[in-house]
Amino acid sequence: FQSKLPEVPTSIFSVMSALAHKENALNLSQGFPDFESDKNLINMVHKAMVNGKNQYAPMPGIFSLRQAISNKMEHLYGVSYNPETEITITAGATQAIFTAIATTVKKDDEVLIFKPAYDCYEPTIQLFGGKAIAVQLDPESFIIDWKLVKSLITDKTRMIIVNTPHNPSGRILTAIDMLQLENILKDTNILLLSDEVYEHIIFDGELHQTAALYPVLAERAFITASFGKTFHNTGWKIGYCLAPKELMAEFRKVHQFNVFSVNHPTQVALAEYLKTPSNYLNLNNFYQQKRDLFLSLIKDTRFEFIPSKGTYFQLLNFKNITDESDYDFAIRLTKEQKIASVPISVFNENGLDTKVLRFCFAKTDETIKKAAEILCNI
Ligand code: PMP
Ligand code: GLN
Repeated sequence: FQSKLPEVPTSIFSVMSALAHKENALNLSQGFPDFESDKNLINMVHKAMVNGKNQYAPMPGIFSLRQAISNKMEHLYGVSYNPETEITITAGATQAIFTAIATTVKKDDEVLIFKPAYDCYEPTIQLFGGKAIAVQLDPESFIIDWKLVKSLITDKTRMIIVNTPHNPSGRILTAIDMLQLENILKDTNILLLSDEVYEHIIFDGELHQTAALYPVLAERAFITASFGKTFHNTGWKIGYCLAPKELMAEFRKVHQFNVFSVNHPTQVALAEYLKTPSNYLNLNNFYQQKRDLFLSLIKDTRFEFIPSKGTYFQLLNFKNITDESDYDFAIRLTKEQKIASVPISVFNENGLDTKVLRFCFAKTDETIKKAAEILCNI
């Protein structure tokens, strides 16, 4: 048997979470909250189950949830997505990303991605015969050199994938970035996949720059989102994809055979829950407090950092502590100090090791304090 993905290992999230569990370590590796989703939302799922919403949902998702997402896009950004034709509910953002790539990328197509990159993009591109063209970002600023991006465009470029706020760096794209991207894409047939799962986790009063706000981007963009990040229930695996009608029609042709439709009772509950904007608009403050608590507690350690601007991840540079590889150091910290993180070389081009670990601060204040105490003794 010839592997279709010979180079692809088990995801670092599985590896580190399993090790954290085995070693009984604080798990700040895989990104998920260690606190509960709102009880009201959980009760709404229960109610939907009791009310018999236990059979297949419609293929693109239930209409009331698509309508609620459409209302949210209108209310937040003043943009219009038709719930009938331009919104599809997916099994998390992962399936939205997989399906968007499966729908569009053919053999020998090139897809530009920025490294460090979230781990599902590249293998999915490869599965469909495409080639990921990696742009390695500066390890400190993570700023995109748009001139370089432009120079990498060829007649094989099918798609560019951006992610803002960015996992793992916590950087965000600015309006200037989006305009530069528009400049590159205008008058081309290149598609955009804009992974915006941390849309509601953005700090210091910054505004999320959704591709939906930029006409040249919106007309060619699959925008992916995840309720798991926003409502503290990553295990529900519900997200969605937005795209213009023609692209979404193609997306649904794949979606219907990829998964057909996704979990019905949670869709019913989320449709109801989304009607109250404070349920997602308070998230920026909620996580900013956690970021600030974490950083204030570790400011005197030997780790160096630039505060995360978005996502629930903070990068810490350990070059003042050890010469070990980030992978070895992450494993040793888990086994000896009982704290798990993610080495970011796994997201970099050719495993570039910049001596940086990623810590997830989607944790109770108690967990954050325990983690900081450990880091203060390293
Ligand atoms: N994209 C990014 C950047 C992510 O961080 C994640 C989740 N870790 C996903 C996509 C996948 O989201 P979901 O869990 O909804 O599949
Ligand atoms: N997105 C999460 C992270 O970056 C993990 C998702 C997963 O485990 N696949 O940690």
